[in-house]
Amino acid sequence: MEFKESARLYEEAKKYTPGGVHTSIRNLEPHLVFKKAEGAYIYDADGNKYIDYQGAFGPYILGHNHPYVNNKVIEALGRTDLYGTGSTDLEIELAEKICKHVPSAEQVLFCNSGSEATYHAIRLARAVTKRFKLIKFQGCYHGWHDYVARNMLSSWDMIGKRDPGSAGMMEEAIDNTLVCTFNDLEDVERTMKSNDGEVAALIIEPIPHNIGCIMPQPGFLEGIRKLCNEHGIILIFDEVITGFRHDIGCYQKVAGVTPDLTTMGKAMANGFPIAAVAGKKAYMQRFNTQPGGDVWFAGTYNGHAVGTAASIATLEMMENEPVHEHVFRLGEKMRGGLRDILKRLDIESYVAGFGSVFTTYFMGFEPKNYSDLQHNDAEFYVAYRRALMEKGIFKLPMNMKRNHISYSHTDKEIDYTLESIEEVLRDMKGKK
Ligand code: PMP
Repeated sequence: MEFKESARLYEEAKKYTPGGVHTSIRNLEPHLVFKKAEGAYIYDADGNKYIDYQGAFGPYILGHNHPYVNNKVIEALGRTDLYGTGSTDLEIELAEKICKHVPSAEQVLFCNSGSEATYHAIRLARAVTKRFKLIKFQGCYHGWHDYVARNMLSSWDMIGKRDPGSAGMMEEAIDNTLVCTFNDLEDVERTMKSNDGEVAALIIEPIPHNIGCIMPQPGFLEGIRKLCNEHGIILIFDEVITGFRHDIGCYQKVAGVTPDLTTMGKAMANGFPIAAVAGKKAYMQRFNTQPGGDVWFAGTYNGHAVGTAASIATLEMMENEPVHEHVFRLGEKMRGGLRDILKRLDIESYVAGFGSVFTTYFMGFEPKNYSDLQHNDAEFYVAYRRALMEKGIFKLPMNMKRNHISYSHTDKEIDYTLESIEEVLRDMKGKK
């Protein structure tokens, strides 16, 4: 495979943009410049074609450039766009749909990115409780802002090393963020007790997909819900990845645990920029979109026709077609196939996943939290991923992250992927 045109364009990109990329973890070796995306496939500037499992970190639940969604957006733009006063028919239709499907959503507000949604949810929780501390979990990522930046995970982190967050952060934000261990209820209880009356909110990815796929152990999410109730702490499920990908009612519907507030994004609109914060009406009424509300909520592009139309279309697809049935079936097939291959080749590994998400940890047991991942052979994964690229399979750059299957993937792509994985691993094992 050649990457000459990508390399040439990358030199141009670096002249005008620091590092040539517009998000911190997009710098990879080899650097690719992408030019085309369609269904389950992406194409780089040299014309190389890949089956895409990165899915732009998760939005593409239906596949790239999905015609139903794109057509709805084009149709909407034929008559409407953005106003800055009042409401739009598209906002109302989407809000109603979300409140119908998502158990915790009594009311909802739209913004443009997951980071905005988590920022608003945390600030609301602080206003409601008149407390300032926040509990989060090691390895969970909730966005780029100071409220959640402690222990965020970037691709350049080494496992086991404390993430410094970002230069320029407010020290107060770091001091007010308490980091617990996922799947460890005792740790959470101890932290709540030793900060009694000071913790406003607990924010959690119900499945920490930012470190692959660590499943909540039975009773963990229920235990968190109970502890939050006992300590008067607002429970925020950050469903920016899990929301709509695992169920049209988000993962909370699957788990049967209802948070007070929920943040959503990504799969909500199949790649178009829109996110949301939703929750209990009594809390949501505190936002100053409501007369008398005292928690600031604003954004020039909030509720834009592009995002709202795309999200309505995406949810309609989930309502009317077997989207989840399809991606869950292919996810099972992929995980089952991977387990068989790894067993046949006798490679120490744990294949994790849920629904459309899968990941392979090169370690001999099921990881239950971030620290367990220090046993994972990250170097082996990087070489494995690179070899798969040569076969036209595009996976996420780090094995702590997950891979996604979309409604546009078919048995053909899964079969080819599994065959290629077996070839690559056989070859790598021979050289080990
Ligand atoms: N929450 C979670 C769980 C995420 O994975 C992300 C982004 N990967 C965010 C929040 C932030 O979303 P955004 O990048 O859209 O600001």
